[in-house]
Formats: sequence, structure tokens, C-alpha cells
Amino acid sequence: MTNVSDAPRPDPVPEPPAEPVLRVSNITAGYGRSTVLRDVSLDVPPGRIVALLGPNGAGKTTLLRTVAGLLRPAAGAVRLDGAEVTKSAPHQRAKAGLCLIPEGRGIFRNLTVRENLRMQVPPGGKGAAKDGLEQVLSTFPVLRDRLGQTAGTMSGGQQQLLALARCYLTRPRVVLLDEVSMGLAPKVVDEIFAAIATLASGGTALVLVEQYVNRALELASRAILLDRGTIAYDGLTRDLDEAAVLRGYLGVDVNAPRPPPTAPAGQAAGVGSGASVGHPPAP
Ligand code: ATP
Repeated sequence: MTNVSDAPRPDPVPEPPAEPVLRVSNITAGYGRSTVLRDVSLDVPPGRIVALLGPNGAGKTTLLRTVAGLLRPAAGAVRLDGAEVTKSAPHQRAKAGLCLIPEGRGIFRNLTVRENLRMQVPPGGKGAAKDGLEQVLSTFPVLRDRLGQTAGTMSGGQQQLLALARCYLTRPRVVLLDEVSMGLAPKVVDEIFAAIATLASGGTALVLVEQYVNRALELASRAILLDRGTIAYDGLTRDLDEAAVLRGYLGVDVNAPRPPPTAPAGQAAGVGSGASVGHPPAP
């Protein structure tokens, strides 16, 4: 009699690729008569992070705003979990699990931290709200001691963590982060990146626009490079020639000295391994 364990095993069936949570197809969008994005497409599967890179003015924020519903595209489609939301209002997309953390945060500065968090009641009633709050405080421990503090009186980094915590509470399917570490101290940036990784490990799909390019690429599985509103590169981060991308498209010299962490907006505070970001070289 043949022992089951001795029987020849069938070849493993390759896992089908996960369906994207976010699908952006052939988006063309802009402001008034000025077209900023042309034919831009991207997919983000669950639990994956896409780093959206590009020089100043390339259209990164415009793309995030279009995905969030703040800007209506002239052409193309946005789908969340397979459902088209191209014409849905921002709050409908938020209800469907999309969360945008814009540059400049998006918290209620005059409310306390507790009030800011309580407004984001997770689905599932009172018990879930209590559990959700406990979970968010263990993911963002810095907020635990500040529950009674008016949000606007916290440091910029703590406010940014609160914005992330509010988003985390909604159990988002997709999170769009626009330069969330801009101008923050390195320790806070570490906490922000840890929170981003936690979100991804829970299955959330993320699109990350980030001045700390090297750190974004460490977390991301895919990098998309926008250049003057079109996709100049789209590929796996493990295949990416970082130095060439940083130098060629972002004007980053990986050997440049690290500028102070409080460098003004527009000049990045550094990109992980000590590079600085500036304007791209002339074509
Ligand atoms: P940055 O890194 O500087 O934020 P970005 O890649 O996010 O750049 P966008 O902010 O999307 O780029 O800007 C893309 C282009 O759209 C720029 O030329 C910008 O001047 C223009 N733009 C942005 N917002 C508006 C607006 N509200 N009205 C008109 N033009 C705009």
C-alpha cells in the first residue's frame, strides 16, 4: 500500500496575484485648462506600499487629490475594491475605505486628541470603538499621555501621528500619504514609518509620496516615478537602480551632505542615506 506521504506531490499551484484594492486607470486631470496628469495608471494590491516619486510639480499631489475625489479627472477611472468611484464625492470614497492624509495634516486643531480620535468611530458599535481606541493607542503610544491635550498645541510630528491615528481608526482599505514626514525630527519620522508599516501589515494598501525617498523605497514594493505628469518609471523597488533614479529624475546626489532636518518646504530634509532632494536637472 502506498503511504500518502510517499505519493508524488503535484507541482505547487502559483498563487494568483492579489486583486488590487486601488486601481487608477488612464487618468488625465488638471486645473482649469491646464492639464497636469496624462494617462496615469497604477494598481495597489492589499498590504502593499507604492512609492510615488517625482520632482516638484510633477503632479504627485494632483494624483492623490484625484484619487481622493477632490479633483474630477477629465478622463480615466478610479476603482476601490473593484467598484468604480470616479464620480463619487470624497466622503463617499472615505466611507468605502479611502483615507487621504494631506500635506498639512487634516486634524481638528481646536479639539483634544481624544475628541479627534472619538470622531473616527470604527465600524461595529460601542465595544468596537473602545477596542479601536485601545488598539490605536498601543500603535501610537505617544498619544496615550496626550488624550486631554488640544491637538493644535502638540508638536508638528505629534499632530502628524494623530492624523495617521485618526486614519488608522477607520480601518482603511487604502491610505494616501502626501509628504507626511515633511520637516519633522528624525525620531518622529521613525514613528511615522513604523505606523505606515503597521498599516500595511494589516492589509491596507498605501500610496506614499515622501521626501525621504530611500526610506520610502525600503518599505515600498513598487515605485512609480512621475515626470511632468506622465509615468516615467513603474516597477518593483527591488529592480530599481536607486542611485540612477535619484540622480536622473529627482536631482538627488546620494553623496551630498545631509542638510539640517528642519530645512524649509521644497528642499527636503534628507532622504534616508544622507542624500538631498532638489529640482531635477534640465532635460
Ligand atoms: P510638490 O512636490 O512640489 O508638491 P507635486 O508633484 O505634488 O509637487 P502638484 O502639486 O501636483 O505637484 O502640482 C503639479 C502642477 O499643478 C504644478 O505645475 C502646479 O503648479 C500645478 N497646480 C497645483 N495645484 C494647482 C491649483 N490648485 N491650481 C492650478 N495649478 C495647480
